[in-house]
Amino acid sequence: MPQVIRADVLGYCFGVRRAVEKARSVRREFPGAEVLTYGPLIHNPAALETLGREGIRALDDGVPAEEIPPDAAVVIRAHGVPPAVRAALKKRAALLVDASCPRVLANQKKAAELARRGCTVAVAGDRKHAETLAIAGSAGGCGIIEDRAGAEAFAAALLARGRPRKVALLAQTTIGQGEYDAIAGALRAAFPDLTEWGEICPATVERQGALEKLCREADGVLVVGGRASANTRRLFASAQGYARNPAYRARLAALIESAGEIPGEFFSLPVAGITAGASTPDETIQAVEEALGTR
Ligand code: SF4
Repeated sequence: MPQVIRADVLGYCFGVRRAVEKARSVRREFPGAEVLTYGPLIHNPAALETLGREGIRALDDGVPAEEIPPDAAVVIRAHGVPPAVRAALKKRAALLVDASCPRVLANQKKAAELARRGCTVAVAGDRKHAETLAIAGSAGGCGIIEDRAGAEAFAAALLARGRPRKVALLAQTTIGQGEYDAIAGALRAAFPDLTEWGEICPATVERQGALEKLCREADGVLVVGGRASANTRRLFASAQGYARNPAYRARLAALIESAGEIPGEFFSLPVAGITAGASTPDETIQAVEEALGTR
């Protein structure tokens, strides 16, 4: 049985905890209403199942507002929605509760302001992620750049159309600092007066920092979280990198969604470490910790 240690910072971030609490309080306040979240509230199947049992159902991502029952209470999740979607939901739903994370909303406001000032706006992040799509929508449509090659292609396409007056770059709140720096560096090389608003959320940085420390102390690290969660996947990618790096103690890394998925070799490690993505519920982390200590 391994000694089990947790990362100093892990699990729900402020924005996700707040969104889950808001949805539950709507459920309590309006016991007769159908409570729906616009897209999964969080990228974690276990947490979504629990919410479903409580009567909080997730709509599919991007479902048209006219398909939503008009008497439903709709909760916007922490990732936010583009302004056009918010307006359509407000018109349609009996009650609209905006649980967008304040940091995400600040990015959306900045994108809108930069676009109003005549900037060509780009956002560094996942092309299909709801948060980046919401930022892009706030700027009236903008480039979404996933990596350095994407930044170079974006710059080349802009320059081919004639040098734009001003270019501005924002960041998805959960992008890795290294990924952001590579994108910003490539854009800065093409546009030296690039305006930057690279607001990476401290929740991401803190979890990554705590993981680095954990990989110095444990022989293997379990990253607990949904496979669809961008920040969980980034934690796992970092853990794999440390496991390959002889400067770190950890030799194993695994991504699991539940205690039932713990790989067998973790049970014979002297020290097993646990970290968890920003949308992993406390109960799932607790169950993994207990499972490691009881086999
Ligand atoms: S990661 Fe940060 S910005 Fe994103 S929802 Fe959590 S607290 Fe908000």
